[in-house]
Amino acid sequence: MKTAIIINASHEIQRTILANEDTLESLDRAIGDGDHYINMKRGAQAIVEIETELAVLSPEAALNKIGLKLLSTIGGASGPLLASFFISMGKALQSYEGESHLKIATAFAAGVQAIIQRGKANLGEKTMLDVLIPVSNQFLLLAQQNKDTSVICEHLIATAEQGMLATKDLIATKGRAAGLGERAIGHIDPGAKSCQLMIASVCNLILKP
Ligand code: ADP
Ligand code: MG
Repeated sequence: MKTAIIINASHEIQRTILANEDTLESLDRAIGDGDHYINMKRGAQAIVEIETELAVLSPEAALNKIGLKLLSTIGGASGPLLASFFISMGKALQSYEGESHLKIATAFAAGVQAIIQRGKANLGEKTMLDVLIPVSNQFLLLAQQNKDTSVICEHLIATAEQGMLATKDLIATKGRAAGLGERAIGHIDPGAKSCQLMIASVCNLILKP
C-alpha cells in the first residue's frame, strides 16, 4: 500500500460523505441525535486538509496521523471509534513484512478489533460493526484465497451493502439508539451507512482503470 492511495482515498471519502448529506443526516435524526453527517464531514475535511503532511509519511505513519487527527476533530461516539481503527491499522501494517492483500486484510482486521474493544460492541448490535466485521472477515478469506484485487473489491462492496441493509431490522443495544428499543427497527444505522459508503468509495477508486 502506498501513501498516495491513502490520500486519494481520503478525497474519494470526502466526496462520498458530502454527496450523502441528506441520507446520513436523516438516518441519525431518526435513531440518534442528527449529528452524524456533521461529524463525518468534519473528519473528512480535517484529513484532506493535512494532505501535504501525510504525503511525506510512510503508509503506517499516515494512518496513525489520520487516527490522531480524527480523535481531535470528530466528536460523538464515532470519532474515537474511527480513530482507533486507523491507529491500530497503522500499527498492524508496521509489524507485517512484505506487500500483499493479506497484509492489508490483516491490518484492516486489527483496526476492526480495536473498534470492538473500544466500543465494547459486536455483530448484531446495530452499529458500524455490522458492516465492518463481515467486510473484514470476507477480506481475510479472499486474501487467503489469493483472489485478484478486482474480485476482492467487488465482494467487499456487496458485503458492506448487505451488512448496512441488515441493520434495518435490528434493535440497537449500543450507542444512542439503544434507548429506543423496538422503535429503532425499520431504520438503517447511520454509522453502518457511512462505513458502507466509505468502503464502496475506496473499492470503486481501486477498481477504476
Ligand atoms: P453519537 O452517537 O455520539 O451522536 P455519531 O452520530 O457520529 O455519534 O455516530 C453514531 C454511530 O456510531 C452509530 O450509528 C453507530 O454506528 C456507531 N456507534 C455508536 N456506539 C458504538 C459502539 N459502542 N460500537 C460501535 N459503533 C458504535
Ligand atoms: Mg449522532
